[in-house]
Amino acid sequence: MATNEHTFKLVIVGDAAVGKTSLITQFATRKFHKEYLQTIGCQLNVAELNVGDVLIRLVIWDLAGQPRFQSVRTLYFVGSDAAIVVYDVSRRSTFENVDGWLMALKRAVPDKIPMVLVANKVDLASQRVVTAKEGEQACLGHEFDAYLETSARTGENVGELFDTVTRLLIQDRLTELRERLTPFLYTSFAS
Ligand code: GDP
Ligand code: MG
Repeated sequence: MATNEHTFKLVIVGDAAVGKTSLITQFATRKFHKEYLQTIGCQLNVAELNVGDVLIRLVIWDLAGQPRFQSVRTLYFVGSDAAIVVYDVSRRSTFENVDGWLMALKRAVPDKIPMVLVANKVDLASQRVVTAKEGEQACLGHEFDAYLETSARTGENVGELFDTVTRLLIQDRLTELRERLTPFLYTSFAS
């Protein structure tokens, strides 16, 4: 039984057809609760993970199609606790657009949140045009917290992706708590 629950908003972004929905679907072979937000054309996928005796609830936001209006994008991003930015290793334009997705994200979420860069469709080895080295460099250059190569088709690294995001969220929450409470450690709070 979970004695403690934490809910996190996770957004997944990237160009059309890079595999965002497929990555979620691969992860969702376990029990998943879905809800559709008609107003902004967004699918919410709720995954519940047990970490020790804590229930971690990931609410994964997935936009259907590309948002035409800035206001929709802002609604989509605002309040995010973590972000996954996906590109397709077989289409260079999707890698070049990672920058634009990051800028849109940072405009809506000025605080530093965990961000993971994902090179998807690595099963398409013969069509691959964006190398692992380029992905790793982009990860470092843009201050992503992690870089992963995935295939939503074969399932390669998909579990690892969501494990990584969950780990980063836990660490982020611990850091936040430490920063908030450290000043009080040397005062009397028990009396
Ligand atoms: P989204 O627009 O980013 O949500 O992309 P989708 O998840 O709808 O995927 C777009 C297309 O790419 C679909 O035809 C998927 O089957 C295909 N696709 C997604 N991920 C992979 C992958 O890892 N490998 C391959 N070969 N195809 C993929
Ligand atoms: Mg999609």
